[in-house]
Amino acid sequence: MTGNDIRKQFLAYFADKGHTVVESSPLVPHDDPTLLFTNAGMVQFKRVFMGEEKPDYVRAVTSQRCVRAGGKHNDLENVGYTARHHTFFEMLGNFSFGDYFKKDAIHYAWDFLTKEVGLDPQKLWVSVFDDDDEAFGLWEKVKELPPGRIVRMGEKDNFWAMGDTGPCGPCSEIHIDQGTEAGCGRPDCKLGCDCDRFLEIWNLVFMQFNRSEDGSLTPLPKPSIDTGMGLERITAVTQGKFTNYDSDLFSGIITAIADVAGVRYGSEPAVNTALRVIADHSRATTFLVADGVLPSNEGRGYVLRRIMRRAIRYGRSLGLKKPFLGGIIEAVIAEMGEPYPHLHGARELLAKVVYNEEVRFLETLDHGLAMLHQEMKRLQEAGEKEVSGDFIFKLYDTYGFPVDIVKDIAIEKGMLADEPGFNAAMEVQRSQSKKSWKSTSLAEMGPGVRALLDKGVRTRFVGYEMRHHRGLIG
Ligand code: ATP
Ligand code: MG
Ligand code: MG
Ligand code: MG
Repeated sequence: MTGNDIRKQFLAYFADKGHTVVESSPLVPHDDPTLLFTNAGMVQFKRVFMGEEKPDYVRAVTSQRCVRAGGKHNDLENVGYTARHHTFFEMLGNFSFGDYFKKDAIHYAWDFLTKEVGLDPQKLWVSVFDDDDEAFGLWEKVKELPPGRIVRMGEKDNFWAMGDTGPCGPCSEIHIDQGTEAGCGRPDCKLGCDCDRFLEIWNLVFMQFNRSEDGSLTPLPKPSIDTGMGLERITAVTQGKFTNYDSDLFSGIITAIADVAGVRYGSEPAVNTALRVIADHSRATTFLVADGVLPSNEGRGYVLRRIMRRAIRYGRSLGLKKPFLGGIIEAVIAEMGEPYPHLHGARELLAKVVYNEEVRFLETLDHGLAMLHQEMKRLQEAGEKEVSGDFIFKLYDTYGFPVDIVKDIAIEKGMLADEPGFNAAMEVQRSQSKKSWKSTSLAEMGPGVRALLDKGVRTRFVGYEMRHHRGLIG
């Protein structure tokens, strides 16, 4: 089964169970300035869960494009280091708005994983929230689940809340034991370990309470269900791969990068890391630009810039000295254009945006790398381990180096990077520049401009942003 097959099968399975197939919403959440990017399937249904909006269905199913970079859920720095995290990924989810609850949600998830996709029940584990005896009892009734496989876990992993107040509830997560060879090998490695052995596949959220200002929980009159399963993870597992990057969702993209760099995937760890990071970041870049985000020095645009520049630096580590990302973006469109046809329409814009960013960054990349290597050598000779925040800020300010790049290179050399120190230096610069220059935010723009942006006339925004952003790299 290919990744595309699994996506289709998931939507069809839940459609068959009375769920309305709803399209993925864009990566930039509509009307929600508190959220950097859509990071879960439930985002587009927030108002429905709050009871503020009533669609004409009570069950929905989606394959939602998500980005977890910057903001609260940030997996940017996991990419390249774990087998399971991406900045861009697709979250498969079924939703019940005051309709079915725990019993059916658990049944559907188990049925889909073991019957439809055919995972071996002997390898599966589930977690429930500490106090959730109801979920524990329901899982106990699942005959094929071997005994001892239901683990109670605490609030951090198994209780979900929309915010400090509002809908919330316990979760139950389904994991697959990929065996010791996939994990950290520590003797105490068990479910909940942050290595890749017990891979979390699917999170079932039981929206059951409303939390008020004073922290007290009252039961919701109509409890709801919100679930999320990473398409890349279930695809890899189904295809018998330990890392998402070895699934067919990535193979075409990784081959395209390996070909242009003249390297072989699987030849050595450093090459694998570079290929995986570039593949992940190319997907994120493609989808973010197609949803109207453009590289800049602030907010969403800056997260995109960090992603792009990290990919460019990894390209450099493979010996790529000329712009190459454009070709990889083409490979992403070839792989993903069928489920996401809007990517075709963004092709020209993508080519321009990516080329410009690469040309601009390649101008300063070598100088910055030389300066960083010199500094690291100096530190090593002095017996020190940490690149200072002020130095990282200088690299950022002079050569447009995002902090992630310094971190990657420091780790490669067994050193550290003082990110808090860098953030403090950034803050100082920000508050100084605020005094002398006031940016125009979207909220301050006239309704005419906003209407145009809503219609998708993003190029106006580009010109606007580019001219007004300060700094060497803006
Ligand atoms: P993890 O503990 O592995 O970081 P999570 O608990 O943060 O995952 P959830 O917020 O529960 O993830 O999201 C629901 C599902 O989405 C996860 O069970 C997983 O299958 C998938 N998922 C989450 N984050 C990522 C990511 N960065 N890349 C790929 N898939 C992801
Ligand atoms: Mg996570
Ligand atoms: Mg988790
Ligand atoms: Mg989870």
